[in-house]
Amino acid sequence: MTNTGGQTGGATPLDMLIIGQGFGGMYMLHKARGMGLSVRAIEAGDNVGGVWYWNRYPGARCDVMSIDYCYSFSNEIMQDWTWSEQFAAQPEILAYANYVADKLDLRRDVLFNTRATTMRYDDARALWRVETEGGEVFEVTYLVMATGPLSVPKGIDVPGAERFGGELYLSGRWPHHTVDFAGKRVGVIGTGSTGIQIVPVVAQQAQALTVFQRTPSFTLPMRNRKLDAGYVAQIKEHYPQLRALARNSFTGGVRAITSRPLFSVSVAERERLMSDAWDRGGLEFLGLFSDLLFNQQANDIVADFVRRKIAETVHDPETAATLTPHGYPIFARRPCLDSGYYETFNRDNVTLVDCLTDPIQEITATGIRTATAHIDLDVIIGATGYDGLTGAMMAVDITGRDGRSLREKWAGGAQSYLGLMMAGFPNLFMIAGANGPSALANFVLLNEQNADWICDCIDHLRAHALPGIEPRPEAESAYMHTVVAIAEQSLMPKANTWYTGTNIAGKPRFFPIFAGGLNKYREMCADEVANGFPGFVTTRADADA
Ligand code: NAP
Repeated sequence: MTNTGGQTGGATPLDMLIIGQGFGGMYMLHKARGMGLSVRAIEAGDNVGGVWYWNRYPGARCDVMSIDYCYSFSNEIMQDWTWSEQFAAQPEILAYANYVADKLDLRRDVLFNTRATTMRYDDARALWRVETEGGEVFEVTYLVMATGPLSVPKGIDVPGAERFGGELYLSGRWPHHTVDFAGKRVGVIGTGSTGIQIVPVVAQQAQALTVFQRTPSFTLPMRNRKLDAGYVAQIKEHYPQLRALARNSFTGGVRAITSRPLFSVSVAERERLMSDAWDRGGLEFLGLFSDLLFNQQANDIVADFVRRKIAETVHDPETAATLTPHGYPIFARRPCLDSGYYETFNRDNVTLVDCLTDPIQEITATGIRTATAHIDLDVIIGATGYDGLTGAMMAVDITGRDGRSLREKWAGGAQSYLGLMMAGFPNLFMIAGANGPSALANFVLLNEQNADWICDCIDHLRAHALPGIEPRPEAESAYMHTVVAIAEQSLMPKANTWYTGTNIAGKPRFFPIFAGGLNKYREMCADEVANGFPGFVTTRADADA
């Protein structure tokens, strides 16, 4: 069943249209071609790379190890490409995305600088009609949203930004040219993973840096290092096996995870374990104790360890106190990895403003006014985060079967089956959707698994001459019940984060991510394929006419 019908009212007919050319969309395009589908992709940027295309801010770096944060589907690519650092910086990751796009010759099927505006399901013809900002129209059998969880910046929600006479940058829309901070007074708003990466780099260049912090984050030392040839050779020798292990692990990375609860070890031993993990750097902390995200007392002990490290590192006690997080469990917000973040506050040219006690009131022509002061600035950087998980989907006017809109369906929060498909939206697939393991897993492996699943699903439809598939409402609600039940057993929903949507005014508070592990999630998806998609309802060609 190939959609080769002639153009209808100027519409381009396709089997599949993919929205987005980040890592998920790129792999989907490669796979769909391999299946012989007529396929195109559209992408808002002017090249591939997704989040790594947009986030060119100083210090941008991935907090997943480079040997894990790359495609696993091709041993040739794994052997060809060599990462230079344990945690790769944005330029290297973007170079990798471009290398893959070249190798697979992806760009010939991508329309860049193109943004989808409306998507409507035509019930009678079992097709999606997609319109773009530029007026292109596609009519497609399978629509794949590879729009990512962090592609719609929240923006600087402070009055007066348009009045600012200096340079104003948003981390997620960083310009392609080099920004020179030398001799300038710079202000950074926001201290999540992004702000924490920007601050140490800009502090070294700027005349003066003011950091506007609202909620302090917990951050751990990254301790990045160059990868030596011997290590790389060893990894490459065992790459396929390592990737298979990672795929079937809880987070999708080669990292030790223990079954040891915190209180099962002596005070001295747990102190030693935490000190070692701190000294080694990276996300090892997360795997130290099995109950870290389930037992508040265990969580408090680990949080206190990090709080002590802040007090030891930051010389000025008042600054150290302001940087110290309280009031939410450690790791319930995305853990940050930094390169000298706390140390940066010992520099003479760096000042911390506590926006909890001294909130930002406005941006003026010459700087930022807080409740108590005006700080003169030449440059303002907004590292204020994203309308995460649902923002990109909700930004498009999507109407499914029987005229029901996605905005209506998701008014109370994202609902789907396996984060892959939604009841009422036939043949609309999501890659790394809001209800899968999302940011709790390695996105590249999740992207691959989701795209592979979509191909299995389309194979099934084609093998049985079925034009449409969508989740059964009861399967979707049972799955969402599981998502909520798993999250509620943990401390994860207790923090205000982009996970829970509380960073965006008016967004319903809801932890929509599957927190049961990538391995368990993969099993659930594989069961659907192995058992002939019991959680889905399909339409027959004859009944559809
Ligand atoms: P974020 O974690 O949502 O942090 C946004 C920051 O901006 C918060 O500190 C927030 O304070 C602050 N903020 C927002 N509006 C503000 C306002 N009006 N006034 C003062 N402060 C304001 O966003 P992010 O740092 O961009 O990170 C988002 C996610 O991207 C991360 O969790 C991570 O998953 C991913 N990321 C990963 C990496 C990496 O791989 N290393 C790097 C960067 C980002 P409140 O918390 O008080 O709202």
